[in-house]
Amino acid sequence: MLLDYSLNEIKEYVKSLNLPSFRAEQIFDALYGGKSIDEITNLSKEIKAKIEKDYPKFEIVKLLESADGTKKMALALSDGSIVESVLLKYKYGHTVCVSTQVGCRMGCKFCASTLGGLKRNLSAGEILLQVLLFNKMLGGTLKKRAVTNVVLMGCGEPLDNYENVAKFLRLISANEGINISQRNISLSTCGLVDKIKKLADDHFSVTLTISLHAPNDEIRKKIMPIANAYKISEILSACDYYFEKTGRRVVFEYALIKNVNSSLENMEELSHILRGRSCHVNLIPLNSVKEQALVGVTRKEAYRLMTYLNEKGISATVRRTMGEDIEGACGQLRNKLGGGK
Ligand code: SAH
Repeated sequence: MLLDYSLNEIKEYVKSLNLPSFRAEQIFDALYGGKSIDEITNLSKEIKAKIEKDYPKFEIVKLLESADGTKKMALALSDGSIVESVLLKYKYGHTVCVSTQVGCRMGCKFCASTLGGLKRNLSAGEILLQVLLFNKMLGGTLKKRAVTNVVLMGCGEPLDNYENVAKFLRLISANEGINISQRNISLSTCGLVDKIKKLADDHFSVTLTISLHAPNDEIRKKIMPIANAYKISEILSACDYYFEKTGRRVVFEYALIKNVNSSLENMEELSHILRGRSCHVNLIPLNSVKEQALVGVTRKEAYRLMTYLNEKGISATVRRTMGEDIEGACGQLRNKLGGGK
């Protein structure tokens, strides 16, 4: 699929079809403009026929808008798989939250994305497409970018799809592309230790976000199966390594679940394990997922816990919940529209 290619690779492709080289820029422009093949006006029918099998095929099957302006898109891909992505509007710009897999195999007990297991990985171009379509919706183009930030926090575990995600990061931050700096990209992971180290070794500099959700391995194992594979201490060492290599402060996500991980004692333990690290904690009152029995704390309680952490010297904030009314908030994305209903 052509969106998996860099500009240079598209130039090679155009050459292989015996087309003049300026066609490469035209195709690249159309791809990054989020255009379907039918919307391209500067390529002849003959040329379109030649590239059609490689040109992305997709359809926006649903677009929901939340009362707070958040948009959720369900996108059907060439094989009929449906992925969800979210557009969040902030004072400083627009953030797109992309999915990296169809489904997820991590099995976290509080998350909707994993309910049907993993269907397949998304290619680099399929991840990129989600950003480009929202960019187009905002009136942006390749040259005039409207999306300012990207978070890899939709469906899927990005580091369980390492090669495609790495390629996506290269494509989206390429000068000739939409050129979103890695500083404006956050990659969230449940903590695949080897891949965190690889990300640093491969010279990426995105903001690393760890879905921690527990102050010790015992609690973590109850809600996140991945805790059986990696200890929190190993994740923290990998984060230290990432910080040493990139100088980027690591963010820890912590979904507050009633009677599971949200007591003052839990916060005390959390402050101990994070003390002395250059990091930030994002507290999120658990969003409801109807198939899951776990319940979140109130926002008031979240602020109380935040203050407690701050007093212990840990930088922490409560994450603003956006798009909850359209099931577009953290942990509410699925690979099928209305899946589970
Ligand atoms: N698999 C990656 C990327 C998903 S990001 C990861 O685990 O980080 C989605 C974020 O939302 C993760 O931090 C995830 O733990 C969190 N999350 C999942 N379900 C949630 C819920 N019901 N309420 C709040 N946050 C949730």
